Amino acid sequence: MSDWLGLRGRRAVVTGGGSGIGRAAALALAAAGADVIAVDRDIAPLDGSGLRAEDCDISSESAVEALADRIGPCDIVVNAAGIIRPGALVDVEIADWDALISVNLTGYLLVSREFARGMTERGGGSLVHVASISGTHAQANSGAYSASKAALIVMSQQLALELGPQGIRSNTVSPGMVRTPMTEEYYQAPGVAERRDRAVPIGRVAMPDDIADVVAFLCSSRARYVTGADIVVDGGFTTTLMSWVPRPGFEGS
Ligand code: NAD
Repeated sequence: MSDWLGLRGRRAVVTGGGSGIGRAAALALAAAGADVIAVDRDIAPLDGSGLRAEDCDISSESAVEALADRIGPCDIVVNAAGIIRPGALVDVEIADWDALISVNLTGYLLVSREFARGMTERGGGSLVHVASISGTHAQANSGAYSASKAALIVMSQQLALELGPQGIRSNTVSPGMVRTPMTEEYYQAPGVAERRDRAVPIGRVAMPDDIADVVAFLCSSRARYVTGADIVVDGGFTTTLMSWVPRPGFEGS
């Protein structure tokens, strides 16, 4: 197999590696020859995957420290663990707000800085965080989710600034709509899958692999001059704003 990405033998930690985008990213990196450790608070689904699995709740500082002690330094971190809780900001319970931020934002920070230390000793590395188009576009009943993703995008830029001199890059990937266990129930509602497919210029909602391949590129030295970037992987969906309002005389696509 060609090693165009130059990932052979690189050590990669992938959080949320048990499901959806994280699992696809872990498998893509492994297929490219990386030595992958899939981290999740639920590792049972990793049985039979061929991936090394490590149990860790990324929102716990002591658990992340213990994880780093167990597995040692690595070259790549993919932060893809995440949760979503519906609700309007005007009445979101602060306990729910805190619970979401502790995973989607604080957890990403804990994992990034813990493993950045080892990357510095190894002469560099790559951090890739899975954000969302929700970080740049408001959506109804998003609760703390959109705010967590917006903060993540800037946190990644700050990490890029702080860690660039040590040879560590930090980027976000912002998926649009992706069919994963997190979102599968939306697609079970009548008509949702078809309407969502039609809303995307590419003509379909993403599958986890569509995101994982971009993650793998950012992990690799092929992206050596890319840092502080937010790569939108949404099939063109967020570029279509003006097609959602009537414009008499200009109907059709
Ligand atoms: P998923 O639910 O399929 O996978 C998320 C994984 O994270 C699960 O295996 C879960 O056990 C793990 N996890 C949750 N909390 C954890 C914790 N505290 N510690 C360790 N592991 C934990 O979801 P997904 O759709 O693959 O989402 C992955 C990332 O992509 C998330 O950050 C999500 O916000 C983002 N995202 C998803 C979509 C989409 O449409 N599915 C769109 C944009 C962004």
